[in-house]
Amino acid sequence: MKIGDLATATATQVETIRFYEREGLIPAPARTAANYRSYDESHVERLAFIRKCRSLDMALDEVRDLLRLRDEPRNGCGDVNLLLDAHIGHVAQRVAELTALKQDLMALRSRCDGPSADADCQILKELNSGAAAPDAGRSTSIRQHLGGVHGVNSPRTSGRR
Ligand SMILES: [Zn+2]
Repeated sequence: MKIGDLATATATQVETIRFYEREGLIPAPARTAANYRSYDESHVERLAFIRKCRSLDMALDEVRDLLRLRDEPRNGCGDVNLLLDAHIGHVAQRVAELTALKQDLMALRSRCDGPSADADCQILKELNSGAAAPDAGRSTSIRQHLGGVHGVNSPRTSGRR
């Protein structure tokens, strides 16, 4: 099948498939006589596997490692379990960060307890002060891995990866 057929069969954008190929997650397909990429059922299964992993917010490196363990099973399930445990740790760290963020926002919200003129709004004054939040910039790498609060980097919303 052509790349468009693979895209349709797996509900994945063509650009995403090419991206996975560049990243080495999907092997380069054979070429037809007309020099089209020619995909088969193994590509459909592999892409479904990748998409399932990405829907669980795994990083590309994690997916790559899981694919390697899928392709060359060894050491029983030990390595797979280790990888999952590490990723669960990433999620737990993100939950802790989001909990801290929620507390920061609730503290900010508590600065204002009623309708008043904008000029008196303690929340705007606090934001105007420009003082950096104490934990600004925490764990940038995890944020990139698991997406921002609004999921801008999330595979669910970007559609690309
Ligand atoms: Zn992870």
